[in-house]
Amino acid sequence: MPDGTPRLKPHTLRDAAALVEAGLAPAAELPALQALQQVYAIALTPAVQALIDRADPADPIARQYVPDPAELVTLPRERSDPTSDAPFTPVKGVVHRYPDRALLKPLLACPVYCRFCFRREVVGPDGGLLSEPELEAALDWFARTPQVREAILTGGDPLMLSPRRLGHILARLSSIPHLDIIRLHTRVPVAAPERVTAELADTLAATDKALFLCVHANHAREFSAGARTALTRLRRAGVALLGQSVLLRGVNDSAEALAALFRAMLAAQVKPYYLHQLDRAPGTARFEVPIAEGRAILRALRGSLTGLAWPAYVLDLPGGAGKAPLGPDFARTEGADWLVEGPLDGVAQRHPG
Ligand SMILES: *Cc1c(COP(=O)(O)O)cnc(C)c1O
Ligand code: SF4
Repeated sequence: MPDGTPRLKPHTLRDAAALVEAGLAPAAELPALQALQQVYAIALTPAVQALIDRADPADPIARQYVPDPAELVTLPRERSDPTSDAPFTPVKGVVHRYPDRALLKPLLACPVYCRFCFRREVVGPDGGLLSEPELEAALDWFARTPQVREAILTGGDPLMLSPRRLGHILARLSSIPHLDIIRLHTRVPVAAPERVTAELADTLAATDKALFLCVHANHAREFSAGARTALTRLRRAGVALLGQSVLLRGVNDSAEALAALFRAMLAAQVKPYYLHQLDRAPGTARFEVPIAEGRAILRALRGSLTGLAWPAYVLDLPGGAGKAPLGPDFARTEGADWLVEGPLDGVAQRHPG
């Protein structure tokens, strides 16, 4: 680049034309992707773009974020609200399904838009920021619902809020005596680590409640130098770090890929919490890994990988019945005995009672 030419600052790619121009989608797909962008939001941050290996047509980072014309096809088994948030919404922005905890969704914007997102019908860049009165009503709901001990900030992505607005929410929640835990679910540390500023860390450090932050990441490479710096900053602010992942075809559907992902999490002091079976949201079929295969992959990891890495493999049942563990199980009954398989030798031992 000649001297004096202004360098273009890397920016978030938000539509089909930008993806084609960046060489991330073939020009032949432009019309289909333009139809798609009317339905589902697109965003690839500079951090995510930097992780993509353009020489690899099956790149596991690109696969998570670059739209595909296949998304225009909805299978009969796919649902627009697969986890049934809507029927469990006592006030706008709150989802209360379990007795002791509830979600607070202050906004529906995310740093990136994952192609397999279970809330893809509602998330988007200009979607769902609660108005001041709506937010106050949601916070009041927490204040007058004493059986709820944990507030889970999700969305969208709560770290897309300004530190000031997030600080206000945390302060209000912190003043509610019956709340013990505040949890945040976020993609920001891996997808937009530059948002994890000292100001954000100070905002999080200000609460006296037990604070857990659950990072959504699906591939080891998402733990870039920038992501690790962001996570270190959060950890030093006193935030306990958990990891959640979705089992995804072509992204992490092998024992090697999952082992690398969990090791990358643990190296960043992130404890793998959940491995989610894909929720059947519209147009996501290309990501589905059958449950039997998921169980077999995890079975292969038990014993060979530090126990710290072991997540709960769960399915969020359609209809709102909750997240159910899917195994794998190492124990079964035979009469009054248990047959328990050794993770290291694969041999079942009889264990009476
Ligand atoms: C997933 C979810 C939670 C959190 O469940 P945990 O098992 O505690 O992680 C809480 N409320 C709703 C509505 C959920 O979907
Ligand atoms: S970050 Fe989460 S809520 Fe946002 S698009 Fe991805 S999966 Fe959906």
